[in-house]
Amino acid sequence: MTRSQPKHTALTQFTVNDNCMMIGGMPLTRLAQRVGKTPFYAYDRQKITERIRLLRQSLPDEVHLHYAMKANPMPAVVQHLAGLVDGIDVASVGEMHVALDTTMPAERISFAGPGKTEHELSCAIAAGIILNMESEREMLLIAKLGERLGIRPNVAIRINPDFELKSSGMKMGGGPKQFGVDAELASTMQTQIGQLGLKFVGYHIFSGSQNLKAEAIKETHEKTLQLSMRLAENAPAPVRLLNIGGGFGIPYFSGEEPLDIQSIGKHLHNLLPAVRQQLPEAQIVIELGRYMVAESGIYVCRVIERKQSRGRTFLVTDGGLHHHLAATGNFGQVIRKNYPVMIGNKVQDAQKEIVTVVGPLCTPLDLLADQMEMTQAEENDLVVVLQSGAYGLTASPTAFLGHPVPIEIMV
Ligand SMILES: *Cc1c(COP(=O)(O)O)cnc(C)c1O
Repeated sequence: MTRSQPKHTALTQFTVNDNCMMIGGMPLTRLAQRVGKTPFYAYDRQKITERIRLLRQSLPDEVHLHYAMKANPMPAVVQHLAGLVDGIDVASVGEMHVALDTTMPAERISFAGPGKTEHELSCAIAAGIILNMESEREMLLIAKLGERLGIRPNVAIRINPDFELKSSGMKMGGGPKQFGVDAELASTMQTQIGQLGLKFVGYHIFSGSQNLKAEAIKETHEKTLQLSMRLAENAPAPVRLLNIGGGFGIPYFSGEEPLDIQSIGKHLHNLLPAVRQQLPEAQIVIELGRYMVAESGIYVCRVIERKQSRGRTFLVTDGGLHHHLAATGNFGQVIRKNYPVMIGNKVQDAQKEIVTVVGPLCTPLDLLADQMEMTQAEENDLVVVLQSGAYGLTASPTAFLGHPVPIEIMV
């Protein structure tokens, strides 16, 4: 039995030349020759630049953009973005070192994440970056370490808001959470910050991820700004940094529409006068990972074998779950859906078929496309997974089954 699947419509961001997908101005087949082996990830520099331009055009001028680099920490990607955005948000000391290697000044790098260790905090204090404090324990430890190092740490409080980001793929605020300080506990902490001699810069309020509903994001912006202004009444110093999170989603699956960021921008524009009046020194920041990079990246693997089994056609490839966990539906998805997958060197062939694309791992979870319509492929053809520039390689269990780790390139 075959199911016919609706085609992906919005996902034609790469041009096609002579039946072959182009990336970074180069035919995919030529790029595969250049890399010399499959599988690989490729990120298109120009696409990232265009995406930042779109954000700048859509959001109010005074809003700063930060790159949340856990989405794609490849050094070349981070360096490219360092020249385009206003700050970088890191979630580990490993990421911090990559960010510090770029041209981004330390005071525009911030570090969030629960359970920061003494070692991590010391390195971050010495680097002079902003520490988004997730708990009272972190605050006390930061104060102690700052004293020991003879450096006054820059701190922001990460707030776990008293509301949730609706329709979010991943909720990271509201209710009981390991992230941030519950909003109702923040005022006690703010009193202590002053006494501990920490340099308070502001708030970080991140509510969730992968949201495609502009209305939900707008509502969150409104509530986040209201909450910030309420918290600021007890702030130990003027609020200079107001990171209102991000959560802008991208379309992965058929039926999903791109986020309407124009309307988010307009709405934010209307909210800003009140903030400017109450918090005149506050720099508003939106932090985004996926939205900045996901659509610029592809994962490329090669068909090793065409195989029939009881009426179903399988394309067995050299790539899969160990390199791209998310595309197989195993990275937080509740229901497995097909990512946009295509035959990159035969994009426009008239001959179509329904195929199941799998990887080489001995597990049925290693499934890149389940009974999807694509152009007819043969051995050695190149299978491309689109929307792969975020949460790809570094979000995958590369050690599982011991295959080589794929190359990443930026073109
Ligand atoms: C993961 C994360 C982000 C990035 O989320 P995206 O969905 O990739 O935009 C931003 N901020 C924080 C605090 C995060 O943990």
